[in-house]
Amino acid sequence: MKYIVYLLSLCFAISTNAQSKTENIIVITLDGFRWQEVFGGADSVIINSEKFTEDRKGMIEKFWAATPDERRKKLLPFFWNTIAQQGQLLGNRWHSNFVNNANPYWFSYPGYNEIFTGYPDTAVNSNDKRWNKNENVLEFINKQKGFENKVAAFTSWDVFPWILNEERSKVYVNSAFETTNFNSPTFKLLNEMQQTTTRFMGDGVRPDLLTFYIAKEYLKTYKPRVLYIGFDETDDFAHAGKYDYYLQSAYMVDQLIADLWGWVQIDPNYKNKTTLIITTDHGRGDAKKEQWTSHGTKVPDAGQIWMAVMGPDTEAKGEVKTPGQLYQKQIAPTIAALLGFDFKTAFSKTEPVPSAVGK
Ligand SMILES: [Zn+2]
Repeated sequence: MKYIVYLLSLCFAISTNAQSKTENIIVITLDGFRWQEVFGGADSVIINSEKFTEDRKGMIEKFWAATPDERRKKLLPFFWNTIAQQGQLLGNRWHSNFVNNANPYWFSYPGYNEIFTGYPDTAVNSNDKRWNKNENVLEFINKQKGFENKVAAFTSWDVFPWILNEERSKVYVNSAFETTNFNSPTFKLLNEMQQTTTRFMGDGVRPDLLTFYIAKEYLKTYKPRVLYIGFDETDDFAHAGKYDYYLQSAYMVDQLIADLWGWVQIDPNYKNKTTLIITTDHGRGDAKKEQWTSHGTKVPDAGQIWMAVMGPDTEAKGEVKTPGQLYQKQIAPTIAALLGFDFKTAFSKTEPVPSAVGK
């Protein structure tokens, strides 16, 4: 009898594992991009503001429409034509579907720490370049059989080598204007471009376009199982109070993700076995109070975020309009679960996002 129970449980274990079709994961973040724009498109208050939108005529022509549904399609066509059909969009608070930071700080390092370690550690409370003590899910996956040296991160912001503790984790992290050592004409050109480009966000932030093309070239050449791309411009432009650029940067990133997904879905290594997860590190403040430019504990609602998931294990629920509450810390165990692993944080066991892992 014991033997039969053992056999049955073994069969169950094998069948649950076999259910996961995801073999690769691509994680993408847009720094400080608000849920209000994800679900409502361009904000009427900000796009009409003389203070924040220099080219109001041009922006209205490009991104304005009568309803939020039309506006969001104009701003993020890939989100609303593809993910809304084939994946899930979570965090529309107008439908009481909530996604929040679990950490109490609502700024970048604590947010990325929460995304990748699943642990909203209150000791992580600064953007300083300090080695993260917490194990992250990329590091955990990089140690698993078949995933060794198949995990890589490309980010515009230069603090990621510390957030992901590149030294300890051994995950390849390429950030800001860091030269790559990969040998091909395209990598060489991209190196030249990133050394020459105008550093319009300072030395600490590479233009998102360059981060993307370096990451894409790496994906095509080295075929990682887990790829992370961290975009940054939305946050910088919002802090600068430049809504024109904030919108245009989000629109560009939407196109880049569409381009990447187009490639993924024709490559035999990735097609129908890759899950895409898109999210943000924190929210921002309210438009009417002119607090959309900022975030952090002093800005009400800046802990409100969103996420999008699409892949072979994620049911096509589209925009989720049912009441619910998810937290950023659930992303790390979701990444692991989709690949068939159980990632326990230093803090406690956090459950994956149920709808993303087919529950
Ligand atoms: Zn941020």
